[in-house]
Amino acid sequence: MSGIILEIDGRKFEASEGMTILQAAQKLGIAIPTLCHHEKLEPYGACRICTVEAEIRGWTKLVAACLYPVEPNLIVRTRSEKIDRIRKTILELLLAHAPDSTQLKELAKEYGADRDRFEKEASFCIHCGLCVRYCAEIKKKNAVGFVDRGTRREISFIPEIASKECWNCKECFPLCPTSALQAAYVLTEALASSLHSFVHEG
Ligand code: SF4
Repeated sequence: MSGIILEIDGRKFEASEGMTILQAAQKLGIAIPTLCHHEKLEPYGACRICTVEAEIRGWTKLVAACLYPVEPNLIVRTRSEKIDRIRKTILELLLAHAPDSTQLKELAKEYGADRDRFEKEASFCIHCGLCVRYCAEIKKKNAVGFVDRGTRREISFIPEIASKECWNCKECFPLCPTSALQAAYVLTEALASSLHSFVHEG
């Protein structure tokens, strides 16, 4: 069975049906940055840091590599002035929320992003959804979810579930690109134990 022939950064590749650009690039050893992607989870396309240029039948568009499926004769460019500019702005916006994230700082260095370009709104959550999706899709526990909307959107543990499940699991913790998750968990634990003392001693 013949595969789908496409070109990424000038290199021909035979991909299989259903592969995304990100997966094809990874097979070729071409690095595309991601923040919300996890190979065991459904593609999410939230952070857009994996934006690449996809040219098909002479038309070029910007697409999220983690979502966009390969197709015959697709020409992909993973770096260009335009792509780097987009990634730089995305990083600057995210750094306003999580200025101390090591992962963001490393990417900022690569793309020349200015950590102080936008006013700080340090919520520490960049809405990648990795913890929420991991707990729902892999652990099937739904111990953590999103609360609020828009720029106020953040993750929050559900104390009733988290107090039973998380202490023995913590599998989503290392996935967090900003380390906010540990802080949120510690906070929930503290709240749960203070509620416990209030109920039992009050
Ligand atoms: S630590 Fe808690 S929130 Fe995270 S995956 Fe495990 S059960 Fe889910």
